[in-house]
Amino acid sequence: MDVRLQQIMRQIPSMDRLLSLPWVAEYEKKIGRETIKSLITDLLARQRERIIKDPDTAFDAETIAEDARRLIEKKSAPSLAPVVNATGVVIHTNLGRSLLAKEAVDALTAAAASYSTLEYSLEEGTRGSRNDHVEWLLKRLTGAEAALAVNNNAAAVILALSALAKDKESIISRGELVEIGGSFRIPEIMSLSGTKMIEVGTTNRTYLKDYEDAITEECAVLLKVHPSNYCITGFHSAVTREELAALAHSRGLILMEDLGSGMLIDMSQAGLTGENDPTVARSLKAGCDIVTFSGDKLLGGPQVGVIAGRKDIIDKLKKHQLLRALRVDKMTLAAFEATLRLYLRGEEQAVPTVEMIFRKKEDLLPAARRLARKLKALLKKTKVQRCLIDVVPVRDAVGGGSFPQSELDGCAVALSLPELGNSGRLAERLRMSSAHVIAGAADDRVLFHMRTLRGKDEERIIEALAEILCIGKEDASDA
Ligand SMILES: *Cc1c(COP(=O)(O)O)cnc(C)c1O
Repeated sequence: MDVRLQQIMRQIPSMDRLLSLPWVAEYEKKIGRETIKSLITDLLARQRERIIKDPDTAFDAETIAEDARRLIEKKSAPSLAPVVNATGVVIHTNLGRSLLAKEAVDALTAAAASYSTLEYSLEEGTRGSRNDHVEWLLKRLTGAEAALAVNNNAAAVILALSALAKDKESIISRGELVEIGGSFRIPEIMSLSGTKMIEVGTTNRTYLKDYEDAITEECAVLLKVHPSNYCITGFHSAVTREELAALAHSRGLILMEDLGSGMLIDMSQAGLTGENDPTVARSLKAGCDIVTFSGDKLLGGPQVGVIAGRKDIIDKLKKHQLLRALRVDKMTLAAFEATLRLYLRGEEQAVPTVEMIFRKKEDLLPAARRLARKLKALLKKTKVQRCLIDVVPVRDAVGGGSFPQSELDGCAVALSLPELGNSGRLAERLRMSSAHVIAGAADDRVLFHMRTLRGKDEERIIEALAEILCIGKEDASDA
């Protein structure tokens, strides 16, 4: 190392110097001194590398100390943190999809904190099956002969294809060879399951004859897949479930549909209809032998995947070795059972996902006006000169790949504070505030969509803004 580089390196603050800073003690209680040391070691190593790469890199001891503090502060707070979803996307995959109903949270907590009947029959005093807790409910709610819950819908598809079509052929329309968020790609999933994918038709048009011509001795499954966020409009045609079922059954094949989102009730009242998004019951009634769907999309429960349909098929899946690796844990099962019971009682409006989808624009308006008023009152207490606060109509979305074409009429509070920078900068400060408000944006304004706000979320938005504008908590709460 040359002399100049050595000199620069000496300006990097030492471990001891950083450890002696006054704020360290507070974090030491949270993550321990050794963790703090290792974080600082890594940070200093990165800084040295940067200098070796480019000795002219500008830095000062204070910035490094501040970087260290920020890093340590971040590691001291939970990483999986609650956020305010002000995006208007109800089933927001990145924000955790569905929220659980209170009943489901209570059931989950009880199962977590206590021994339970997870795999125990009280009558017999012997081993029971964990699937029994939800199977009868799923049968009741979908009309299926049998049902099986697994870790998620991806697992449901893999288990079903592995058990039914491994080393055999499965036929699928080219219009359904989709990739769903998080790199769930149908061709890869089929190959992983050991089934040979036989593509038929074209991207936009597939006919019954295409399926017919592709059936060989090796064929086991006709697979239909919900195209999720992707939709084909214009010059296109697909084969109906009824036609596919008649073909499959006349040739001794299984018709399987991956529905993606599992809808247990008709949602046409919320403006949601479409051949592509049938209820689970409707898909089974149309002749699908088994269907797979998620528990945490439209259904509004915890993360699970369900396979529902013919009993002889489900029995086969229940005996498959893969099931042991894909099974559902007790907390999830408890939450799922409680969610399904809400449907059973006709109380699906208590399921947050369902309730938020059914919210009408008129119902959202009073809350939007109230939030706008509170924001105005808050801004009056600051030196901010220019601000724009408005209640505006917006288009919300179901999310989770369901009903990609149906938007929901909603309303939002639009906010712009040019003195604090553009809307991107304001959105970032809202995200990074203690309340972690995730907002939408349009026309250089930040949008708080009312549809997905719940409980104390409005107060959290006010708090976040007060924090950004450096107003004391008490002052903010009289806003
Ligand atoms: C969402 C989705 C999946 C994956 O479901 P997960 O529950 O996320 O595993 C699979 N197929 C379709 C069609 C989907 O929409």
